[in-house]
Amino acid sequence: MVKKLRGLIRSEGIIVSNQILKVDSFLNHQIDPLLMYEIGEAFAAIYKKEGITKILTIESSGIAPAIMTGLILKVPVVFARKQAPSTLSTDFYQCEIFSYTKKKTVPLIVASSFLRSDDKVLIVDDFLANGEAARGMVDLIRQAGAKLTGIGIVIEKSFQSGGKTLRARGIRVDSLIRIDSLSDGVVQFADDE
Ligand code: 5GP
Repeated sequence: MVKKLRGLIRSEGIIVSNQILKVDSFLNHQIDPLLMYEIGEAFAAIYKKEGITKILTIESSGIAPAIMTGLILKVPVVFARKQAPSTLSTDFYQCEIFSYTKKKTVPLIVASSFLRSDDKVLIVDDFLANGEAARGMVDLIRQAGAKLTGIGIVIEKSFQSGGKTLRARGIRVDSLIRIDSLSDGVVQFADDE
């Protein structure tokens, strides 16, 4: 799966800038369900002995890999919303993050009924850049009094600060793909893969 994902990133990924990789053909717009299933299997294999009770992600691009992980671990998947729908219950956890793609501060909201103090939570997301999305989700888990077990990331851009900051806080981060650089129009993968 990691090999397949690397191949797809090389053949179909579009390097928008030194900082941003577009993978719209299989992850962020069109979705490759089999690949998502294999990603789910990979995260499930890493965390199968951890007694995970819930997967937490953010709408919208995290949902596909998260739901496959939840399918295999047989646990519910909850996605943090970036805006409060009128149907949301009045009881919720909320924080603010700086959205990497929207370039502005957005709220992160989860109804309190879906994150409980006895939950053991695995966060799953598509990309890790500066770690704002993950920081927000960690904060929501803290507000709920739940236990964070780890963070599963499909593509970590290790030249940005998120992974380092989270690991320095003692948080377990497992990334399937790590990219060291997008400079000069070339995707350079971390060589330990
Ligand atoms: P962070 O919060 O770690 O700075 O950024 C992570 C979030 O921004 C992810 O949830 C992802 O949706 C988006 N993101 C960050 N970098 C990229 C990128 O290079 N490509 C794409 N498609 N999304 C990104």
